[in-house]
Amino acid sequence: MSSLYLSGRGSGGVGRTLKISGVLFDLDDTLIDRGSAFRRLAGKLYDAEPAIRNSHTRNEAVRLIEEFDKGGYSAKPYWWYVRERWPEIKRSDPEFTTWHEVTFPWCFEASQGVLRLLDDMDRANLQWGIITNGGPIQRRKIAACGLGDRARCVVVSSEVGIAKPDSVIFEDGLKRLGVSASSALFAGDNPYTDIAGAHAVGMKTAWVRMGRDYPQDAPRPDYTIERVTDLRPLLGL
Ligand SMILES: [Mg+2]
Repeated sequence: MSSLYLSGRGSGGVGRTLKISGVLFDLDDTLIDRGSAFRRLAGKLYDAEPAIRNSHTRNEAVRLIEEFDKGGYSAKPYWWYVRERWPEIKRSDPEFTTWHEVTFPWCFEASQGVLRLLDDMDRANLQWGIITNGGPIQRRKIAACGLGDRARCVVVSSEVGIAKPDSVIFEDGLKRLGVSASSALFAGDNPYTDIAGAHAVGMKTAWVRMGRDYPQDAPRPDYTIERVTDLRPLLGL
């Protein structure tokens, strides 16, 4: 059963193909899965630190480090809590920062389903690009997944000095993609940055749900999909 369904703005529906010529994607938790990448990173930290190995099983430690990270939204970097839990670990902030920035990008991978979707979009002459909020590590993640050379455009907030949901970054992406807002779709998982921002510039929007409920205080997406590969029927692929 398709998990694509109309979510309330009346511009399409199940089984109907949207007339668009380009798609801009969010990166984390849209094209790539930050959660599984972070679990790989936590496993690497477990392997590297005897203090962790001596007190916890691998699964326990990975779960604990995930809790410290809170999906990237914890008040302090996860390693601050790691050092608190295992005081034997003496890495400094700069040492941890460097380790994280070098190691984390290589923990990401684009799934076969995502790569097939992008292949088929290329074959169908559907332009696609990426708009992502974050720092230089975003480029390294994109490169590690083999997406950097393939995307028509990659816009990273730290490089352009403006972040989603500001309209300027979406307009920049559309210009680089060579597609007008009314002919473009934005797919992303964050209602407040991805959906609100793309909606404000007149793009069609697809929210990547990942089992969550849509908040009441954000503009409704045109489409709700469980995962990005569910775009296929919408794109006529
Ligand atoms: Mg995201």
